[in-house]
Amino acid sequence: MVAELADGLREDEQHDGALLGFTHARPTAAGLLLGLHPAMADRVLKLLLPRIDERYGGLRGVPGLRLVPHGRYWALTRVQGNAVVHLGHPDEGWQPELPVHGAGLTQLWRRNRHRLHPAEVAYLDDWTRGGRNAGRALAQDWLNSRMLRRPRLLGLAGATHGSANTYTHGRGQLVVEWCCGIERAELERRLRRSGLAGRPEAIEEHPRDRWRFADGVGMGGAWVTLRKAPCAHGYARASKDEPW
Ligand SMILES: [Zn+2]
Repeated sequence: MVAELADGLREDEQHDGALLGFTHARPTAAGLLLGLHPAMADRVLKLLLPRIDERYGGLRGVPGLRLVPHGRYWALTRVQGNAVVHLGHPDEGWQPELPVHGAGLTQLWRRNRHRLHPAEVAYLDDWTRGGRNAGRALAQDWLNSRMLRRPRLLGLAGATHGSANTYTHGRGQLVVEWCCGIERAELERRLRRSGLAGRPEAIEEHPRDRWRFADGVGMGGAWVTLRKAPCAHGYARASKDEPW
């Protein structure tokens, strides 16, 4: 989910520092409740829900993800496994504008509600059992799920302008680039303090990755790169005498 949102949400689509579309996260008995930013809610669902996009050349979205109404919430479930993410919205009567089939566009979450489409099976096989990179995929999933649970911390990078540049390298390493507001070292300190840099025993270290991501916060085989750049919003002139 994190990779789809980081790669899919443009800076002009982010609001109020909700870099991944969520304003808050709360653990629940069933799993996790994520609070959607109302201006981003439909876009978030459109990016996450899996579909075959022939113009793009294949599968997009999160393979195996499905959307179901769940009391006063909507829930994201997995065809395989019991993981549930409930979606909160400030408007309790919120009804999402759900993506529909189109020319060259097949919404797999609509068509295959209870079973995986072969393209989803192929992707998941590749990701979780992908030979020498399987450990890295596990580590990245773990780190991304931690990032998803910390929207307010991540939002510190978007606190000044409301947005930040986020992307991944092929769904691997998450990159967050911003300019004004929190200092890079301070954001790294807060993420580490929140347990981001810990590593569950099941996840192996990939020490040789360390040199590739020198500005990253490492967690086992996974990384989030934090990069603070000169202001891209026209505020730099006021402080042009200051070194970056
Ligand atoms: Zn700035």
